[in-house]
Amino acid sequence: MNASYLELKGIRKMFGDTPVLNNVDLSIREGELVTLLGPSGCGKSTLLRCIAGLTELDGGRIMLGKQDLANLPPRSREVGMVFQSYALFPNLTVTENIEYGLKMRGVPKKERLRRCEELLALVDLEDKRGTYPQHLSGGQQQRVALARSLAVQPKVLLLDEPLSALDAKIRKNLRTEIREIQKRLMMTTIFVTHDQEEALTLSDRICIMNKGHIVQDGTPEALYSTPRTEFVARFMGSYN
Ligand code: ADP
Ligand code: MG
Repeated sequence: MNASYLELKGIRKMFGDTPVLNNVDLSIREGELVTLLGPSGCGKSTLLRCIAGLTELDGGRIMLGKQDLANLPPRSREVGMVFQSYALFPNLTVTENIEYGLKMRGVPKKERLRRCEELLALVDLEDKRGTYPQHLSGGQQQRVALARSLAVQPKVLLLDEPLSALDAKIRKNLRTEIREIQKRLMMTTIFVTHDQEEALTLSDRICIMNKGHIVQDGTPEALYSTPRTEFVARFMGSYN
């Protein structure tokens, strides 16, 4: 595996007087899928938003490859993000949603459509290209959201609880699909969840987060078998 590709050092974020991210360090290798696992409110979404440039840091540094992301606007960061709520444009078809970022970047129509076809095949939605989001199931909408975020060929993919709004069966299928796509593209990915089973089955590495920092970082096996604190043990289900 390569050396660290995405590197977070001493990330701090305050909301008012409350520290929400408290000295977060995190290194991710190229092509690795790292899961941030932690209870609601521990700062997972805030951390992703900082990486994407949607929230300003109060301290620390984010490096992507050789590039310091400080002061780079979201669109220049080459970071893709998928949200729990899909956040598709309701007035645009599947194809129009997927090509949106490319259009914004001035990519010519022919090239946009070529990319769209590739992505439709990747997420298995070739029969839905002209459909509007309201006529899609939750799982299909999330696949469109995934395709849309991949369209601009990001260097890092951030997935913020992408499966949480879905039914159990669809959730399991999409989980497997996401992992297959991630591996095929060798996409460096941060996957956020509060579901330990999801984390255990998906991840190259898991970071357990609590109260604004990472309390333990390791392979799924290591965290499960040798949790360093009771909090980690409880969260990994080691006591069940
Ligand atoms: P998680 O994704 O792990 O559930 P979040 O990152 O959404 O956690 O939130 C972490 C903490 O920061 C929570 O206490 C939340 O209420 C607070 N928070 C998040 N966004 C804001 C905001 N824009 N203004 C004030 N507080 C916020
Ligand atoms: Mg969240």
